[in-house]
Amino acid sequence: MPLVDYHTHTPFCHHAIGEPEAYIQAAIDAKLIEYGISDHAPTETEPFDNWRMAQSDMPDYLAWIERAKSYAGDKIIIRKGLECDWFLDGKNWIDELNQITEWDYLIGSVHYIQTPQDLLSVQSAALWDFDNPKWQNDWEGLDVDQLWELYFATYIDMIAHGGFDICAHPDLIKKFGFLPQRDTSYYFKPVIEALKDTNTCFEINMAGLNKPCKEQYPQLNFIEMAAQAQVPVILSSDAHAPTEVGRNFNRGLALLQQAGFTHTARFEKRQRHQLVIG
Ligand SMILES: [Zn+2]
Ligand SMILES: [Zn+2]
Repeated sequence: MPLVDYHTHTPFCHHAIGEPEAYIQAAIDAKLIEYGISDHAPTETEPFDNWRMAQSDMPDYLAWIERAKSYAGDKIIIRKGLECDWFLDGKNWIDELNQITEWDYLIGSVHYIQTPQDLLSVQSAALWDFDNPKWQNDWEGLDVDQLWELYFATYIDMIAHGGFDICAHPDLIKKFGFLPQRDTSYYFKPVIEALKDTNTCFEINMAGLNKPCKEQYPQLNFIEMAAQAQVPVILSSDAHAPTEVGRNFNRGLALLQQAGFTHTARFEKRQRHQLVIG
């Protein structure tokens, strides 16, 4: 299909598997026209957590991408990216990551929010990776509306920073299926306004269908409001294994069309281009 898959991982993050050749072959088999590699970027302070590459992995990561490119030849275009974690004080580090090489795109993600009071006994750090499966049971009894409030404030701060080409999985906070009492559009509207104001692309991430929340990130009402506002969009699998490349993309394409999108984005050297769909 005439689509790209830009949110994909490598074994450098310690929770993805597969050789570059297997990922690229899967992308070719899925008839994608471009394949982007965007593993979890290192953070400035190390050690930080156990689910990302280290700063010292960067040369091997870039070599892994080169291996993917040689296997791809002229069968598929390979793009070079990173999935970066946004912290409230992270601006300078993102600038440093940007200078490592000539990236095709940088993805911004919020996987960490301030640790809620109720959790401080088990999770002593100031930041909480709320979507880590090891915390799934700890969600029980937390104030979900408060967590959504905090998550989306952080997400909007990331958009406002302006350093990212793609803002990932907009409602990742729902991963374990804990939904707020308020209508979700209360949380989504300011996000869409921020994307619109900064002309930033958001991602429809199909991996959510295979998580406890059992739906893509973000919800359909977000996608429809974004289409109304003509916010740029891209479809991603968030593959952590070759078998997950382009996963659920038929469903994703249907969602895009149902919402009224006529094109998605693609990126080269951090310039956005349009890709007509349908
Ligand atoms: Zn991951
Ligand atoms: Zn992510």
